[in-house]
Parts: sequence; structure tokens; C-alpha cells
Amino acid sequence: MRLKFFLHFLFISFVSFSQNGKLTGKLILKDVENYKSVSEKTYIILKTGNRIDSVKVNHNLSFVFNNLATDTLRLSISPRTYPTNIIYRVCLKENEVKHVEIPYASICPYSEGKGNVCPVCKKNDQVIPIVYGFTMKIKYRDKNGNATDKNGKIISKEEEEKVTSKQGGCVITDCQPNWFCQLDNIDF
Ligand SMILES: [Zn+2]
Repeated sequence: MRLKFFLHFLFISFVSFSQNGKLTGKLILKDVENYKSVSEKTYIILKTGNRIDSVKVNHNLSFVFNNLATDTLRLSISPRTYPTNIIYRVCLKENEVKHVEIPYASICPYSEGKGNVCPVCKKNDQVIPIVYGFTMKIKYRDKNGNATDKNGKIISKEEEEKVTSKQGGCVITDCQPNWFCQLDNIDF
């Protein structure tokens, strides 16, 4: 009788505290040339309400977390991902198994050293610089009201209205694009 009660109690505990959720995932590496080093040193960090876990990715950049309770999971990657470090949220229901694929870049994809040639059209004739911080466009006029450049040389209306830079916003991070191709509509 006592044993039966005990077993019953055990069963109840098992049901109410079951943590059979599972999260599997894979990093989709953008800088594939760094595949080896990424597979050797990259950790996935998982935070839930009351616990922090981390696992190293395996040789094919996948990972698994077992025994998860119903919760909102917050996933991040160490070392951080570029251009912006992102925390992913995954909602896990009871006993649910979820798979996530996370884009990952181990290095900043933008570099001033790469120059202003567009990676898509391979040209720079439609490329303009991206300007960060507060900027304003200054228009110059000579004494007769003609539009001029900053050196006082008269310029045409088209030249005056030509877009010469893209506003990059006021938030400056350690990894941001320097150029914009107007033809392909991409930052690089
Ligand atoms: Zn282009």
C-alpha cells in the first residue's frame, strides 16, 4: 500500500516536471572560408527563465539541447555574429522538438579596405558613400543665383540634384557598410 502510494507520487512528479523538449539547430555560415575555426570554437548559449546552458557546435556546425521545459528560449552565439549581434527567441511547448537554422558570420562582412567596387555589378559608377551621423546637404549659389559646386563653379540642375551619398543613420556600430550601389540597391 505504501509502495503503491510512493509509485503514484513518483508518476505525478514525473508528469508535472517533465522536461522533454528538445532544440536542434545549425549555423548557416556566411564566411565559409572560416568553417574550420568556427566549428572548433563556436558555442551556442541558451538562456531560459532559470538556467543558462551552452554547447559547442559539432563539426557540421549543428547543436542540440535536450531536456528542455516549456519556456521561451533565448539563443545567442559566442563569439558574436556580424554585422549585428542577435539574440534569437524560440518558444517551446511541452515535449516539443524544434529545429532552427541560424545565419552566422564570424567576421564583419564590410571593410573599407575592400574599396568601392560593387560585389554584384563589379563596377563603381553607381556607387555612393554611406554617411553616418547627422548630415545635411549644402547648396551653393553664385551672386546671380546659379547653382554652383563648393568651389564656385556653375553646375547643371541634374548635377545639383544628383544623389551623392546615402544617409546611414546616427547609430554607429563596429561593423557597418561604407558604400551603397544604386544600381543593385545593396550596401557593402
Ligand atoms: Zn552594383
